[in-house]
Amino acid sequence: MADAGLAVAKTWTTVRDGDVRECHAAMEGIGTDVRGMFDVEGILVPYPAHWSLPAKQRVRCRCSFYTDVVDLHEPEPAYPEAEYQDAGPEPLF
Ligand SMILES: [Zn+2]
Repeated sequence: MADAGLAVAKTWTTVRDGDVRECHAAMEGIGTDVRGMFDVEGILVPYPAHWSLPAKQRVRCRCSFYTDVVDLHEPEPAYPEAEYQDAGPEPLF
C-alpha cells in the first residue's frame, strides 16, 4: 500500500448511547497515531476492547472503528472548504 501512496486511517467510534464509558465516548471520532494505535488513557491499542486494556476498559465494550483509505499524495486543502466558495466578482468601488 505504501508504494501506491495510500494508507488506511482508523477512526474510533462508539454506539453513542448512555452506556458508553466516558473515556470511550471521548474517543469518538479520534484517529490513531502513525503506527495505527489508539491512545486510550495512555494505553496504546490497535482496536477497541484489545486484550492489553484493563478489564474496566474492555469488558462489554461495544466500540469499534472504521477505516478510510487516505491518498498520501493528495495535499491537505490549505483552507477549509467554505473558503473555496466563489464570492463573485470584487466590487470595483
Ligand atoms: Zn468502548
